[in-house]
Amino acid sequence: MPYFMKTHSFKNHSYTDLFFDLDRTLWDFERNSRETFMELYHKYQLNQHFGSFDLFFSTYREYNDELWMLYRSGQITKGELSWKRFDLSLKDIDVNDEKLAKNLSKDYLEISPTKRKLFPHTLLSLTFLKKQYRLNLITNGFKEVQYQKLKNCGIIDFFDHIFISDEIGYLKPHPKFFEHALKVSGADPKNSIVIGDDLMVDIKGAAEADMDSIWINHKRMDLNELDLDFVPTHEVSSLKKLIHIL
Ligand SMILES: [Mg+2]
Repeated sequence: MPYFMKTHSFKNHSYTDLFFDLDRTLWDFERNSRETFMELYHKYQLNQHFGSFDLFFSTYREYNDELWMLYRSGQITKGELSWKRFDLSLKDIDVNDEKLAKNLSKDYLEISPTKRKLFPHTLLSLTFLKKQYRLNLITNGFKEVQYQKLKNCGIIDFFDHIFISDEIGYLKPHPKFFEHALKVSGADPKNSIVIGDDLMVDIKGAAEADMDSIWINHKRMDLNELDLDFVPTHEVSSLKKLIHIL
């Protein structure tokens, strides 16, 4: 589908509710997670097993992505996802140590939400938008992790409603996730807009829920190179630009 970036302003649209994603949209997942993994690498002296930090981190990320897909489609549980991504990373380099995998998993879930790196202009944008809109958060993740992240990085009070897949029982882009968020917040989909980084999760979910969307394209990917049957309503490469649109 051809995609033409819209440059017009939404300012005459009567949005009332914004639905923000958290990870990789506001909370800098890559940088926070890298810092966490560096701590784990040193604490457990993983250099004994992995030749380098980068090998450890990239191996984990591959298994994490695979297992998250299985978790999203209901094929594995939250518990399995948590420790098996470490277990498989260790098995990849012929280390069979379930106890180590479980310790890494426990520490990761404790340390990661203490990290506080947000994308540039997060606070500025949320402060500005809060004056005009109801702000809601929609995130796929574990409740004990996501609430801690929001508290620790000081953005929890911006949101009127916080929707976490773990609590709802459905993950984005499942229509039931969006149905629940709209129902509880009392928002009309026609006056709501989803703001997120993940095309297959946030933007697809919004399209299927008949909501407008803003794709946060921090990585500056080219939408024309992707073969999608839906498009975001708008695209920005920096959070700062939200305040020019909304
Ligand atoms: Mg995200």
